[in-house]
Amino acid sequence: MTEDTISQIATARGAGGIGIIRVSGAQALTVARTVFRPAAGGVLGEVAPYTARYGHVMAADGSIIDECVLLYMRAPHSYTGEDTVELQCHGGSIVLREVLLRTWEAGARPAAAGEFTKRAFLSGRLDLARAEGIMQLIAAKSARAAHAARERIGGALSAEITEIRTRLLGLIARIEAGIDFPEDDIPETEAAALAADIAAAAASAARLLAGAETGRILREGIKTVIVGRPNVGKSSLLNALLGTERAIVTDIPGTTRDVIEEELVIAGIPLRLLDTAGLRAAEDAVEQIGVQRTAQHMEDAELILAVFDASMPLTAEDRDLIARLSSVSADIILLCNKADCTPLLTAADFAALDAPVLMISARAGTGLDALRETIAARTATADGGLSDGALPAGERETEALRRTAHHLSEAGAACAAGLGTDFVSIDLRAAYDTLGEILGETVDTDLIDRIFSEFCIGK
Ligand code: GDP
Repeated sequence: MTEDTISQIATARGAGGIGIIRVSGAQALTVARTVFRPAAGGVLGEVAPYTARYGHVMAADGSIIDECVLLYMRAPHSYTGEDTVELQCHGGSIVLREVLLRTWEAGARPAAAGEFTKRAFLSGRLDLARAEGIMQLIAAKSARAAHAARERIGGALSAEITEIRTRLLGLIARIEAGIDFPEDDIPETEAAALAADIAAAAASAARLLAGAETGRILREGIKTVIVGRPNVGKSSLLNALLGTERAIVTDIPGTTRDVIEEELVIAGIPLRLLDTAGLRAAEDAVEQIGVQRTAQHMEDAELILAVFDASMPLTAEDRDLIARLSSVSADIILLCNKADCTPLLTAADFAALDAPVLMISARAGTGLDALRETIAARTATADGGLSDGALPAGERETEALRRTAHHLSEAGAACAAGLGTDFVSIDLRAAYDTLGEILGETVDTDLIDRIFSEFCIGK
């Protein structure tokens, strides 16, 4: 347990009915006794853990700062694993600041970003993969992402990692026991069994790695860009998908001059949806900038919804867009809008592109379900039967899994080449340690500090 006692505002900034100051550390109750006066009078004596006390937070000069409900959670049964006091005050930013300063006067020091959760990790209450789940739950942009985060906090990813590590440890023990291999060479029969076990561990790691893309998408969303020449119905489509009137819809070409960004959830997948200025030879300077931005967004989009007007044949601008689409790296879905009018476009018009073509009507709302399904299918891939909560989500985890896969393939190769036991066990150990990084077992304090500093203040 760390020595000093920390405090911070634990609730969101801004006005709220209640705001909570969390105080954590060995001196939490001492700090509380200095700042809190029970409503019944006297001083705060013994407090039974997990009971509430009503009173006031007092300034040093004896004046009242705020009314307060005090909660005491005793180590190790608290969020941080340490003695913790929560002061529930009124949720105004000034009053909370005053209460916070008072706890600092009373001996606590300011908690850094993520420090409460870091203490939960250091006290062994949570491994790193689970602690990161807490950050993901707070940042979740969809119900599915929140569900995944909850599973992760419950240990879904940790369990997968631990299972592979346990198997690796068994293999290392078998090799290092060494009794069966007096010559320091692995007998052929044993080598075959070992190779099979290494391959099985590698397959488990590969299965996790295959889910990394879906994990990332769940967390960050897919950067999606709507493109198409003016008046094909891009803003109408955005509005139909959002079910609101966020973008301005008009029939004057070029109304959407800048980029509008919205968040939309489809099958639990957050989409960062950008409605763009039409791609065309813009007449004025402002619109030109919009058109340039559109080209830039197309470059770094992950998904492009290209909209065409089905009620008329392809124009020169449409053909120009099709040509541009053939050189982007994003997934593309081609949408023939205004299908409620007699459609003149067919899939054959887009034969140059390898992308699904959907007939839709943004106005009538038809074809939108098919569009949602097509988008959802993009993230339903390669999850290998893993629950969302077991998907690796961050670059740190993905990179560690890549290195694990590399070490396991080296171990397999060493085994197949009949190299000595040392060669095999060195790589297995490296894989074991690398997986330990995901749980935070084998990472240095600098990295731990960096990871937790990405949490918000008060968490
Ligand atoms: P944008 O310039 O591509 O964003 O196009 P808008 O969304 O502003 O739409 C241009 C015009 O097409 C407006 O008059 C819309 O009402 C009309 N429009 C959009 N979607 C449809 C559709 O599905 N069917 C029909 N008939 N008209 C549509």
